[in-house]
Amino acid sequence: MPFLRETVRHELVKRRVTVADVRPLAPSMVRIALAGPELEGFRALGPADHVKVFFPDPASGELTLERGEGVVISRDYTPLAVTVDAAGATTLDLDFVLHGDEGPASTWAASAQPGDELGLGGPRGSRLVPEGLGRLLVIADETAFPATRRWLDLVPESVPVTGIFDVADDSLDGYFDDLPGAARLEAERLYREDGPGQLEEALRSLGPIAEDTFVFLAGEATALIPLRRYLRHELGLPGEQVSASGYWKHGIVNLDHHAPLDPSDPD
Ligand SMILES: Cc1cc2nc3c(=O)[nH]c(=O)nc-3n(C[C@H](O)[C@H](O)[C@H](O)COP(=O)(O)OP(=O)(O)OC[C@H]3O[C@@H](n4cnc5c(N)ncnc54)[C@H](O)[C@@H]3O)c2cc1C
Repeated sequence: MPFLRETVRHELVKRRVTVADVRPLAPSMVRIALAGPELEGFRALGPADHVKVFFPDPASGELTLERGEGVVISRDYTPLAVTVDAAGATTLDLDFVLHGDEGPASTWAASAQPGDELGLGGPRGSRLVPEGLGRLLVIADETAFPATRRWLDLVPESVPVTGIFDVADDSLDGYFDDLPGAARLEAERLYREDGPGQLEEALRSLGPIAEDTFVFLAGEATALIPLRRYLRHELGLPGEQVSASGYWKHGIVNLDHHAPLDPSDPD
């Protein structure tokens, strides 16, 4: 049964926004609420939508959104929650993994304060939840926890969700608990320090994957390659049943997630 996923296009808008609130969720994750008049009309309708977040140049402090006008520094993030208050003011939450100070995004997020400025570009489009979904299987690390929240939010509550989570520790165990649909999430958490290979083992242990199950994989690109191979080539699942996206890659700055996850097997 082919999955139909409608795509809604959005006009590409770049916005300057201001940090309204900073809430640590765990030592390795912070939720940052962004606000400002330019957020009006912001829409993100798909579970795995992304925005380009523009950061100030750490050297000059200047925030540049357009090439040719200064130093442009951008990274991809998942629009997590958009709220519009009674007065019509829009707020957008983003969750940042704090992975140290070797990247501008993580460094910025670790010391963000209300009043700080950021830029946003997009989303250019939203791929909606597939129609006719019987079950959702998510394989994700912390960078894709925001996307996983979106999947749980957008998929009908009657659809069971299985999660295989690749995590550093147990500090984000309660990350999904406040969602109305959290009770149907059956999650297995695997600790990275226990070594590679356990993700594939956990996936294989699920056995055959039914044709009405949609599989979403996102996280460290290299770790996902054997999982995608298993799903696509050993189980023979069609491309439209599997979405596999590298959200970052060891040793690579600002990974281009549009490039094929597995260069030896581009879709
Ligand atoms: C579609 C999409 C949606 C995303 N959504 C989110 C999101 O909602 N929240 C979120 O936190 N991230 C998200 N990411 C991942 C995020 O864009 C990357 O982690 C990004 O590289 C962070 O930028 P940086 O400036 O901190 O590090 P970079 O300058 O890009 O990289 C510097 C170094 O840090 C390493 N690195 C990058 N990310 C990590 C990490 N998470 N853990 C350990 N080492 C890392 C790199 O390998 C590199 O060696 C998303 C990515 C994509 C493609």
